[in-house]
Amino acid sequence: MTSASDAWFLEDAGLFRATDVIEHGYDYFGDCPEYKRVLCPVCGHKNNHLGSKPQTIDGKDNYEAGWGGRGDLAVIPIDGECGHVWEMCLGFHKGDVVVFVRAGLSNNLESKVAEREEQV
Ligand SMILES: [Zn+2]
Repeated sequence: MTSASDAWFLEDAGLFRATDVIEHGYDYFGDCPEYKRVLCPVCGHKNNHLGSKPQTIDGKDNYEAGWGGRGDLAVIPIDGECGHVWEMCLGFHKGDVVVFVRAGLSNNLESKVAEREEQV
């Protein structure tokens, strides 16, 4: 059975490195270099908003969270002012935590936002 999150992942999302969305060389609050702004992984736009509520998908320790790993997947939805919809993801796999980004690359981005809002 495919969950809504799996559908989002499988239908039209692309994967990106988390390190590629961090804006290097700019400290967000000036005196606090730990804070970095994230950029849209598709177009690099700097203005993004937290999307619907973050969610954790239960992988049941059996690859059922809709990503390549065995364990749970934490997903933070982000909506870019550029129109791209993307997610910061943390996945658990056999004692390791993996970070990555997945983003919608085309077509029905507005409908994906509407789907998320309906799920909350
Ligand atoms: Zn974008």
